[in-house]
Amino acid sequence: MNHLEEAAGLLKQGELVAIPTETVYGLAANAFNEEAVLKIYKTKNRPHFNPLIIHSNSVERFEEWGIFLPEFALKLASHFSPGPITFVVPTSNKIPDMVTAGHNSVAIRIPNHPITLELLSMLDFPLAAPSANPSTFVSPTSASHVKQQLGNKIKCILDGGNCEVGIESTILSFLENTPRILRYGGLAKEQIEKILGIKVNVPQVNGDTSKIIAPGMIERHYAPNKKLIISSDFEKEIMNHQRMTIGSISFSTNYKNIDYKNQFILSESGNLDEAARHLFSALRSLNELNIDIILAENFPDEGLGIAINDRLKRASVQ
Ligand code: AMP
Ligand code: MG
Repeated sequence: MNHLEEAAGLLKQGELVAIPTETVYGLAANAFNEEAVLKIYKTKNRPHFNPLIIHSNSVERFEEWGIFLPEFALKLASHFSPGPITFVVPTSNKIPDMVTAGHNSVAIRIPNHPITLELLSMLDFPLAAPSANPSTFVSPTSASHVKQQLGNKIKCILDGGNCEVGIESTILSFLENTPRILRYGGLAKEQIEKILGIKVNVPQVNGDTSKIIAPGMIERHYAPNKKLIISSDFEKEIMNHQRMTIGSISFSTNYKNIDYKNQFILSESGNLDEAARHLFSALRSLNELNIDIILAENFPDEGLGIAINDRLKRASVQ
């Protein structure tokens, strides 16, 4: 029996399997099996109000399960699925409340990884799969990251190498007339708008419109066990923290006043896609270093820079 057959067998029995995707590794269970889905929440220590994304390998299969994409979503799916885009659409009665956290919508995605696409084709149910890390920790972008944190809790981790996108999917809601981004992620807003030919709505935070924000977008997330300061003036921060050992995350700049071993330059060539790919492993490494604080740059507010800034901001919440 190869790994895929073993994984499929475990999933059919209601067990959890860690799966590789192009965004981050997922902790997967049969989305139709409430007990299996409950194991995800328990294993991650995830709050029950935080709904899960379900995964399959084609739009047609979601339709067979009574989940339909409106026109804008179909257009995006034809360009970007499989890929780092999640569609929030009206749910179907086949999907347990445990998956949607009781909402009348469901989040669906077709992940772009050959191993997981093959696994999905072997199953007659979708996989509910959040990131394969304890709740509020940094998401895993390699099988060894999963093993470090959840290895003793799950029976099977499919190793699909390092995640190519490295940051979670962009979540779009199609519940209003105009699509709305609920979470910035691995597909840039500019690319979405280019295909649709319209401006999409952006996440809403406080005030009366707070209901529209993606449920479960917890403010403190990805948080390292050291203070993380986001700054556009590193030299000033270095001056202000002279007695401290500093670790850093920068886009492409090398800071001569910070020990090179403690510096994580996410893309020497200044490429935001590459920077996103390296972000989470840099946060993990910084967590393990003997440093006092982490300085992180403000990334350009465009392309995947928006998602990077979002993750850094949530990592900076104490
Ligand atoms: P994660 O699996 O940790 O990447 O998180 C999945 C995220 O998808 C949740 O935290 C929500 O923000 C979002 N999500 C899932 N289902 C829905 C839904 N029905 N409506 C809105 N957002 C959702
Ligand atoms: Mg997560």
